[in-house]
Amino acid sequence: MKIAVAEINLTALLHNIEVIRKLAPTSKILAMLKANAYGHGYLEIAEALTNVDAFGVARLEEATKLRTAGIQKSILLLEGFFDKTELLTIAEQQLETVLHTKQQVLDFINADLPRPVKVWLKLDTGMHRIGLPPSDFEFCYKALFQHKNVLGLMTLMTHMACADEQDNPLNQKQLSLFNKLAGDLPCEHSIANSATIMSIPAAHKDWIRPGIMMYGASAMSDSDAAEHDLKPVMTLKSSVIAVRDVKQGDSVGYGATWTASEDTQVAIVALGYGDGYPRNAENGTPVLINGTEYPLVGRVSMDMITINVGVNAQVNIGDEVILWGDGLAIERVARHAHSISYELLCGLTGRVKKQFSY
Ligand SMILES: *Cc1c(COP(=O)(O)O)cnc(C)c1O
Repeated sequence: MKIAVAEINLTALLHNIEVIRKLAPTSKILAMLKANAYGHGYLEIAEALTNVDAFGVARLEEATKLRTAGIQKSILLLEGFFDKTELLTIAEQQLETVLHTKQQVLDFINADLPRPVKVWLKLDTGMHRIGLPPSDFEFCYKALFQHKNVLGLMTLMTHMACADEQDNPLNQKQLSLFNKLAGDLPCEHSIANSATIMSIPAAHKDWIRPGIMMYGASAMSDSDAAEHDLKPVMTLKSSVIAVRDVKQGDSVGYGATWTASEDTQVAIVALGYGDGYPRNAENGTPVLINGTEYPLVGRVSMDMITINVGVNAQVNIGDEVILWGDGLAIERVARHAHSISYELLCGLTGRVKKQFSY
């Protein structure tokens, strides 16, 4: 029996990259591998991604493990170094770094490095998370321009806050500010995450930075991935371990939060929040058994969930269950759990076995 298995379809991954290439044919691709490649297994994903130009991670350890595994491609640290000692490793391992505060820029130009490092200078254009405020940008740019510690051309970057909402006025505001401050400088330029790739072609620039769409989920708030010809890379599966009768008026699960309104049958599936299935998935969250959708009922337990399959269901012990992926868009599951696909994917726990295939 398949119990808590995440099947990773590398053909779908490569297909999604081709979809992305068609959307932004002249841009280079920095593929996001942070957070264990959104839960997919970053070493295997890195090895499979032969058709991208660079990788993005959030922690130095993720980058050094990729190097140790023999990955030679450019690897960018999205938040740069957290203390100065990391900078030495960045240079030694030939990693690339984002610089997003004035202090980081000063530490960088004052460092005694064994070799120059490629720099992505990050400007905050309105998200107000990380990035230089416009008032610090010119100083930092000039301090870095043609500095001995900077390898080759710098990339100037920013990050969009609301690109998943096509009509949000902040999009144009951020784009205009970036173009005004950075657009004409002799550097490469980068703005676009998945939502921006999908909805704002003028923001594609030299480097696009896809994450979620590469894994086959939609970045847009109003559409599922299939509408964009993206294919789910992960299909999360488990199996039915019991099927039982429940009488009208019987409640199911912890807290007795669901009561059968008529006689029915409930299938018990071996997978729960201990595997990363969201505990706040509500009654009615879709689950696929033998190609038919059934509603989850009752609370999600640590190791099990309960599914209302109806009195006449042809559901048996050992039947395979799909929680999301092929045939069941993760966005739909996420909506029922008051979450987003990103969080569901990243939240898978270590006990879910990954099976990679083409
Ligand atoms: C994670 C990340 C992305 C990718 O975002 P998606 O919405 O998953 O496409 C792009 N740029 C930066 C700086 C990021 O941290």
